[in-house]
Amino acid sequence: MVIWPKNKKIAVVLTFDFDGETYWIGKNERSTKVFANLSRGQYGPHEGIYRVLNMLDELEVKGTFFVPGYIAETYQDQVKMIHEKGHEIGYHGYMHEQKRGISREEELARMEKCEAILAGITGKKPVGHRGPGGIIHPFTMEMIAERGYLYSSNMKDTNSPYIHEVAGKKIVELPTDEYYDDATYYWFSLTQPVHRDIVPPETVNECWGLDFEQLLDEPGSIMVLHMHPQLIGRAGRIRALGEFVGYMKAHGAWIATGEEVANYVLAQSK
Ligand SMILES: [Zn+2]
Repeated sequence: MVIWPKNKKIAVVLTFDFDGETYWIGKNERSTKVFANLSRGQYGPHEGIYRVLNMLDELEVKGTFFVPGYIAETYQDQVKMIHEKGHEIGYHGYMHEQKRGISREEELARMEKCEAILAGITGKKPVGHRGPGGIIHPFTMEMIAERGYLYSSNMKDTNSPYIHEVAGKKIVELPTDEYYDDATYYWFSLTQPVHRDIVPPETVNECWGLDFEQLLDEPGSIMVLHMHPQLIGRAGRIRALGEFVGYMKAHGAWIATGEEVANYVLAQSK
């Protein structure tokens, strides 16, 4: 069990998949022809990201942004701003690719390309990995260990961090879940895959809030929120998120980036 710094009761990582239009292209290639969907994805870089960054600034907390290579190339100003404000940037594919059964060589080429793009902005290779659409491959864990990553945020099997021993190295897992994914509540689509059921922000805060309260009583817990600027960056939703983050901060949460938490877990495991 991990004892969090300064006896904080729980670690919270605020993660944002800054997917823009690639979010829609990855779900359904026909989206490339559906202007409305692409435009909705662009709400992230055009509008939502600024609200997310302002909220984090106001609450004086840092987050982790998983950014596809294409988005880093297309929205350089926004991605630079994320980095300059002290947030972390992690790997998330190039075009949010969600195809299963690809070869190791294909993924290796993609990782090399995207790491170089991200390093061009941040000055260093990413250390955190989240597969687009939550999809990883049989060789992913070994590959990220070989490439010097610190952590994966892909699994959904626990409420506490743990370590994958792979290729003679340690990779920290920072698990999340669909329950902590804003898409579960906020994603709306009239085209395939259709999803019409959206819920009010108060309900999201209630769901996440109950989990947070219970996890406070379970030492060594972590809560990795998994969000998207294009969804949670809507005005009322960011207001609700700000209230929830402020609440967690005031109630014993250590709110840190994935990199900070992974480094801490690794140091504790020695
Ligand atoms: Zn994504």
